[in-house]
Amino acid sequence: MDLRAFEDAQAAIKSIACRTPLVETPEFSDGGRRVLLKLETAQPTGAFKLRGAANALSRLSPQEAARGVVCASTGNHGRALAYAADRLGIPATVCMSKLVPQNKIEAVRKLGAKVSIVGKSQDDAQAEVDRLVSQQGLVEIPPFDHAAVIAGQGTIGLEILEDAPETDTILVPLSGGGLIAGIAAAAKAKAPGVRVIGLSMERGAAMAASLSAGHPVDVVEEPTLADSLGGGIGLSNRHTFSMVRDLVDDIVLLTETQIAAAMRTLFLKAGWVAEGAGAVGIAALIEPGLAELGRNVAVVISGRNVDMDVFRAVIDGKSPEASDA
Ligand SMILES: *Cc1c(COP(=O)(O)O)cnc(C)c1O
Repeated sequence: MDLRAFEDAQAAIKSIACRTPLVETPEFSDGGRRVLLKLETAQPTGAFKLRGAANALSRLSPQEAARGVVCASTGNHGRALAYAADRLGIPATVCMSKLVPQNKIEAVRKLGAKVSIVGKSQDDAQAEVDRLVSQQGLVEIPPFDHAAVIAGQGTIGLEILEDAPETDTILVPLSGGGLIAGIAAAAKAKAPGVRVIGLSMERGAAMAASLSAGHPVDVVEEPTLADSLGGGIGLSNRHTFSMVRDLVDDIVLLTETQIAAAMRTLFLKAGWVAEGAGAVGIAALIEPGLAELGRNVAVVISGRNVDMDVFRAVIDGKSPEASDA
């Protein structure tokens, strides 16, 4: 994927996803290190996934758009697809498993998409998508393993290097890898020396397990504060596995205690609300040695869609998930 793909995506998503602020955060900048936060929490749907969804929809033929789109989503991708499709007048169906938090299901319904709740895992929701594609001719827009989705997410990497060309390290939440693959490819096309570091939770880190195995593997989904990082990478992964393997410099795995501390620190020190998945990059700033950081660090705060009862418990240090027992 070359620079052109990301520049084209940037033009295509402009009217739907916003160019988010990259803000210097003195609270995290010390010891000669400058820290900037890339606030994807400012997207209309509260997470970066709007970029990939908008770019993928921009590439549909009129016939495909008329049939409608479908996805299986743990929440933020479904919300993004619902919003972007609604803006473009394209019918959307979102399939989710019963593990997805209620606030995320309601949010997608409100945005005008049809929601179909199926099974107990991402795989079950995916089986329903496959059925709708083969029986009703809907077009699947997957959450990460899709070239146009990756190009859309990669616009974040372009924006970071446009706004702060001196950036030498980018910290990125990692699940299926669409976000980090796009950011790494775009950022390295502009600044080959930039280091890109992924952060996942220890509980069910599918990409890390797949990289160790040398091929995509399944992991058991477990409850985590970083619920947007749940799910596998797909056993027949086409794009993100090889891109992450070739482009990402390091992957850091976090305990639930570390994820809770990251959410708490981001809120109490800098005043920003993020969901667990959105805050993981902060963990690398809190604990020296977790990741090798340069002098100019950009942290992608990927989303803010957290259940407020969970958020309050985390801030008060009372979250049950916040213990690693
Ligand atoms: C989807 C998501 C991620 C992970 O993105 P991938 O492309 O699956 O690696 C991180 N943070 C949030 C808030 C998300 O919704």
